[in-house]
Amino acid sequence: MKAEIICVGTEILMGNIVNTNAAYISKGLAGLGVSCFYQSVVGDNDGRLMEVFREASGRADIVILSGGLGPTEDDLTKETVAKVMGKTLIEDEKAWEQIKEFFEKRDIKYTDNNRKQALVPEGARVLYNKNGTAPGIIAEGEQVTAILLPGPPGELIPMWDDQVVPYLKEKSDTAFCSEMIKLCGIGESLAETELKDMIDAQANPTIATYAKVGEVDIRVTASAGNEKEAHELVKPVVREIKKRFGSHVFTTDEDITLEAAVLQLLVENGLTLSLAESLTGGMVTSRLINVPGASEVIKTGFITYSNRSKRKYLGVKRSTLDKYGAVSKQCAKEMVKGCAAATKSDAAISLTGIAGPGGGTKEKPVGLTYIGIYVLGRIRVKKFVFSGEREKIRESATAAAITMLRQSLLKAVSCQ
Ligand code: ATP
Repeated sequence: MKAEIICVGTEILMGNIVNTNAAYISKGLAGLGVSCFYQSVVGDNDGRLMEVFREASGRADIVILSGGLGPTEDDLTKETVAKVMGKTLIEDEKAWEQIKEFFEKRDIKYTDNNRKQALVPEGARVLYNKNGTAPGIIAEGEQVTAILLPGPPGELIPMWDDQVVPYLKEKSDTAFCSEMIKLCGIGESLAETELKDMIDAQANPTIATYAKVGEVDIRVTASAGNEKEAHELVKPVVREIKKRFGSHVFTTDEDITLEAAVLQLLVENGLTLSLAESLTGGMVTSRLINVPGASEVIKTGFITYSNRSKRKYLGVKRSTLDKYGAVSKQCAKEMVKGCAAATKSDAAISLTGIAGPGGGTKEKPVGLTYIGIYVLGRIRVKKFVFSGEREKIRESATAAAITMLRQSLLKAVSCQ
């Protein structure tokens, strides 16, 4: 089964909004094992939408459209798709009742324009919208099935999860199983090299790698006659990949982030953590605190940006700063030691570096970073030279710090 995505909206074309719907739908299709070879974005223009939809219909079995289901004149997705598919629009009584109820509950007056949202192509399956007014639509035609979804992600995501995914599963005569293996502390090219023989020989399951900042995700997807068979195909491949990457694997659960996995390690071992950030200005603390339950383990986060604050709060020696500078191994070491001592924490992280764009020298270039990790009395400091713009350097340093903490925790726990 081949699918294609069309996102409708001049705002997306102008760069005013990021096309997160396409990313969400693509990810969902990949998880279902549905091939998606094309994605398009088209403005709110009847003629151009018609052209793109016709083209997509010629290539795919299913065309998924997002946006343009609203009540205004420029919302024309439904009308255009119906025209191309030769279907008449008729009012869906239940959809109209729900639209009225949506407005009445909020004490807002609805207009005749809103009635337009209750129109659906004849014979279509209506996807009722619990989070907004525009219903989604599944219209099956001779050549193609069109799935129309509202633009706001808060409406599209639950509709996709609750109604479209079950439909696609039911339509498909093939079942899919997809598992994710997430790695840290290894780059994408090295990960691919390790997997080269498996990637070269892949057929079913397929193996795909995705690089993120400080992380590589590997997705293994198999298709078979039923879900159990598909799962049986995936299992040995996942086992082999886990064996090859050992402790680089931080989870095989799609929903677990690196920070959540590390926080879990701290919780499981009853360890507390404090942070002293210069370069990243709180980014590491923020990523960790984003995880529910962080309050159980995180004690204090210092943002010690100036030399003075490094001395005052962390006890970094003036002589260290004078002799080696703030961006140095020695400073990172004193920062992490001071942070752990000041907060009486079991573990601590320190970061110091040059984010740029200015401030770099030949000896200390932009991107130079020292990360210090303290776990139960042992200190480790590592030097990195990250590339990219200021934001990318800070993001890379954040991921590297969390990865280093994980490595040190695993080591400390295995020694206990
Ligand atoms: P409504 O019923 O709210 O009018 P709609 O289906 O007509 O919905 P649009 O008017 O196209 O949707 O978009 C409404 C809002 O949804 C946009 O302003 C934007 O915030 C969000 N949105 C639309 N398309 C996308 C997309 N592809 N990715 C992320 N957000 C989107």
